[in-house]
Amino acid sequence: MRVGIGYDSHRFDVGRPLVLGGVTIPDTPGLLGHSDADAVCHALTDAILGAAALGDIGRHFPDTDPAWAGADSVHLMRIAHDLVRRSGWTLNQADVTVIAEVPRLAPHVEAMRARLAEALEVGPGTISIKGKTNEGMGFIGRGEGIAVIAVVTLTVV
Ligand code: MG
Repeated sequence: MRVGIGYDSHRFDVGRPLVLGGVTIPDTPGLLGHSDADAVCHALTDAILGAAALGDIGRHFPDTDPAWAGADSVHLMRIAHDLVRRSGWTLNQADVTVIAEVPRLAPHVEAMRARLAEALEVGPGTISIKGKTNEGMGFIGRGEGIAVIAVVTLTVV
């Protein structure tokens, strides 16, 4: 068995839609980024790649490459997951914590779990998503942006 960890953070950008875990969340500022800035997918992708020791999202999808401008991060995650699967690994479990003052995540968690499970071709029970605030502290507490931590386990097929 292998364990991978992923972390991502993005700054809020009121001019963009908020996409987290492949789900568009209304009435909240979006996130600044080269792709759609889906920090849940980015952290999860890094955890999946990390568990297989296959690099990171920046290596596979550099933000200097115009091909990934505005990219659907669910699509990038699927490409990375396919690479990991072709190396003989099966995704066992993913646990994701989103740290943000807004939005309130709970109403969106089930849609995100379903979307990610579908994209990764696993059962919805494989994907856990949890929301926390940062209790008003630091850049998250000031509402400047959000952060995401993901842990993944892989096993040999
Ligand atoms: Mg990112």
